[in-house]
Amino acid sequence: MDRSTIAAIATPLGCGGIGIVKISGHHAYAIADTLFKQAKSDISGDNYHRKQSHRLYHGWIVDPGSNEIVDEVLLAFMRAPHSYTREDIVEIHAHSGIAVLNRILSLVLKNGTRLAEPGEFTKRAFLNGRIDLSQAEGVIDTIESKSNQALQMAMAQISGAMHQKIQFIRQSLIDCLVQIETAIDFIEDSDDRVIDDTLPEKLRKSVEGPLNELVAQYQRAHLFRDGIKMAVVGKPNVGKSSLLNWVIKMDRAIVTDIPGTTRDIIEESVTIKGIPIVVVDTAGLRDDGDSIEKIGIRKTRDCIEDADLILFMIDASRSPDGNDHRIFNQIKDKNVLIIKNKIDLLTGANEIPIPQEWKGRPVVGVSALKQTGIEALEEAIQRSVLQDNSTLDENPLVPNIRQKEAIENAKMATRRLINSLEKHIPLEMSAIDAREAIDALGEITGETIQDTIIDQIFSQFCIGK
Ligand code: GDP
Repeated sequence: MDRSTIAAIATPLGCGGIGIVKISGHHAYAIADTLFKQAKSDISGDNYHRKQSHRLYHGWIVDPGSNEIVDEVLLAFMRAPHSYTREDIVEIHAHSGIAVLNRILSLVLKNGTRLAEPGEFTKRAFLNGRIDLSQAEGVIDTIESKSNQALQMAMAQISGAMHQKIQFIRQSLIDCLVQIETAIDFIEDSDDRVIDDTLPEKLRKSVEGPLNELVAQYQRAHLFRDGIKMAVVGKPNVGKSSLLNWVIKMDRAIVTDIPGTTRDIIEESVTIKGIPIVVVDTAGLRDDGDSIEKIGIRKTRDCIEDADLILFMIDASRSPDGNDHRIFNQIKDKNVLIIKNKIDLLTGANEIPIPQEWKGRPVVGVSALKQTGIEALEEAIQRSVLQDNSTLDENPLVPNIRQKEAIENAKMATRRLINSLEKHIPLEMSAIDAREAIDALGEITGETIQDTIIDQIFSQFCIGK
């Protein structure tokens, strides 16, 4: 492992109250000594050169070349091994401005550190044994969580619950392998088979069952983390843009505005019932009334192809016409939710029936103009994408796709193992299967994994984490 001292700006670059430059490694304390002038009022009773761990110190960052004060700061010291990376860490809590943070970082870099790679602090936490790989993945997920549900799932990983669960299952496989290997040694001196007959049943209960449950849990709830793509389609003027503006505004009321998003772009991110959703607005493809027939049709088809859910919007006040039918024919093989918009124009008696061939699809009535029906719409979206209305209330421990693949591999190897034990196939074969299952589970915790995959995982992080 590279032992150089690393540094990075750990907070987003921009104007804000506080920005943090983080330093980790052997030289962290020495660098702080070089750059930090402690406030006199703060020194009393404290040995200046022996900073206590886990305390904040008030003072200034001073450029040692020019003696110029760069910023008034608080410094946090964390002595190894009681730190995020298990190395000495110093955090410089400065004001958050691009110039000031860059200046502090460049002073830190000039004095014996190198710039950290993306995820390198967390990678060190992993390589130094403070967290396992599933916990590191929980860190990425926490940063990327867009809903409370996604956060619950990330916390379940960070807390080590996945680690513990996998270790428990893996231990059962290790115990089984030990039995098999002992038996193999024993058989060399005897004709008897000395494997416990109940072993296949034990494997079913303590390995196969829990692995099946984890895969089911992925299927049930991974959308809360991974989200879906949803396209809104319908002929011009049915109210697609009005609906989108409304939904996005509702979401934005609680989610901080994402800079750079305007109504001109055709993809928006919203969170509905805890599910992160990328909404593709095919209304943006419209240029004139013919768009569905001309340029729009290809792009719309691509959007439809990619989408996990299609909101098919029709005008509730008019009977569906040829355009509506043509659009429906393009989407009929997808997961479709029919939205009858403009219900404000209905007077009860004049409700237009849904054509026979569209039946079987869920239908929701809304008025994008009067902004009524959002709750029913959100519930219908939730029902359309989640199996059996999953919630995370009871169990937020949900494998991610990488973990799920490793679990599937472990499951297959375990199945072969159970089979070979039951059919009394030579024990050497069972040992191979047991090892394969053990290794597959080791990929989740990071015990048996290639460096390239580790690098790939940590490259998903931002710099400074
Ligand atoms: P798009 O072409 O499908 O994106 O439709 P727009 O959102 O641009 O809406 C077309 C017209 O329908 C506009 O004049 C809207 O004000 C109107 N409209 C949209 N939703 C409703 C609704 O729920 N009720 C009524 N009465 N008019 C609506």
